[in-house]
Amino acid sequence: MESTIPVHPNLTLRMWRDLTPLPFPLRPANKTSPHVLIIGGGWASIVDHITSQIAGALWEYPPAVCGQHEGKVSLEESKRWSMVSYHCYAAIAEDPELAKKSGIEMKQGRFYFPTRLEDDHEQYCKMQEIMASGVKGFRRYPSFDLENQNVIAKNQKIEDMYEIDSPMIDSDQGMQWLMKLVQDKGGLLRSETIHGALLEQESELLERFQADVIVNATGLGAQELAGDDTCYPVRGALVRVVNDGLHFPRVTQAHTVSADVSGAANEIVFIVPRSDNTLLLGGIAEDKVGDTNLILDSPVIKEMRQRCVDFIPLLENAKLHPSYPLAVGLRPFRGGNVRVERELRKSAKAGNGKPSRIVHSYGQGGAGWTLAFGCAADICTLVEEAIADAPPRSLADDATKQASTDKEPKHDQPLRARL
Ligand SMILES: Cc1cc2nc3c(=O)[nH]c(=O)nc-3n(C[C@H](O)[C@H](O)[C@H](O)COP(=O)(O)OP(=O)(O)OC[C@H]3O[C@@H](n4cnc5c(N)ncnc54)[C@H](O)[C@@H]3O)c2cc1C
Repeated sequence: MESTIPVHPNLTLRMWRDLTPLPFPLRPANKTSPHVLIIGGGWASIVDHITSQIAGALWEYPPAVCGQHEGKVSLEESKRWSMVSYHCYAAIAEDPELAKKSGIEMKQGRFYFPTRLEDDHEQYCKMQEIMASGVKGFRRYPSFDLENQNVIAKNQKIEDMYEIDSPMIDSDQGMQWLMKLVQDKGGLLRSETIHGALLEQESELLERFQADVIVNATGLGAQELAGDDTCYPVRGALVRVVNDGLHFPRVTQAHTVSADVSGAANEIVFIVPRSDNTLLLGGIAEDKVGDTNLILDSPVIKEMRQRCVDFIPLLENAKLHPSYPLAVGLRPFRGGNVRVERELRKSAKAGNGKPSRIVHSYGQGGAGWTLAFGCAADICTLVEEAIADAPPRSLADDATKQASTDKEPKHDQPLRARL
């Protein structure tokens, strides 16, 4: 059976080398340090939940359980980004105090399959890639024995399963922690909505914010800001139940059956524990549905919850989280998938003939937490190139170059920007 096993030697962002969770920058800013305007950093509020808070925030090797990948380039890049993130999360989770503060933990994630993986070429190749990727705790259970366990319902069709140590993030806590960290490192937060195409107002924005470069990280907002009409929402939802061990034995591992394995987008099983005694039950992936008007009694939500109970019958007795029982959000997908790329068009208004100073990071779809640090690492490089007015390259060109350098592993490639 053919499989292209990637090697990920070029960790472009490494915790403690390029990035620290300490409340000051690794390299102090000085008068000549450039200023970066990031639009859409995601203001974490307990009242208004943004997509990044709503997320199940389980790290998954791409493509994710709720993921869909249209572009091959993007899928390959996503694998690289996901591994950069994996190692950053693992480093954070290793320190108990930091893990507690950030809400980032490593727990067992279990992935179930209705057929032997040898009979599912795509999934078999994915498993091989995971084995070779550097993730920790890989263990496979071929001929998964439903009779000899007491968690999964015996009537489920499961023939195979593997588990890995997966980062799982309490996204409410994680967002608050990240926001505080950004501020502690000198970032200034401002609440404002930008309207219209960024390219049209690039010079005004740079001047108004005294910035040298703009990073567009607005998720679905990129439809308007980047004039990208390939952006579209995929609606998702998670029922939140209390996982304190009183109503059913505490679930401490993630249990998932992916959409492409079950054969239908709305047959996903996504059961993920959080650090704060909450268990998330999901999921759904409703293509191009752009509203969040779902309630606990909506048929699709009832079916989703029932699917999880059918999978783990002990959840029958689960009690809803009293203050926040249902999270509904829109995954920011994009045709061709993730865009981590400089603006390729020139700013007509700026009129100086120089390349645009806009850098895009959007379209992370159902995998924003999985890809976060990896995308950020590439964005740092693109920001430096934009400030140097170097000509922009398309994501596809970059990916081709990356593929050829991956064949000749280079270790410890330093990142110029220090965070
Ligand atoms: C139910 C559900 C489950 C998920 N589960 C997972 C998971 O298990 N693992 C995983 O990795 N990912 C998961 N995701 C996906 C993840 O949540 C997204 O990929 C991620 O949150 C996208 O982050 P973002 O910063 O691009 O977008 P957002 O979090 O939406 O942030 C965009 C920010 O830009 C701001 N903005 C937008 N337009 C403008 C404008 N015009 N001017 C100024 N600001 C603007 C918004 O206010 C917001 O603050 C899930 C998503 C959902 C909905």
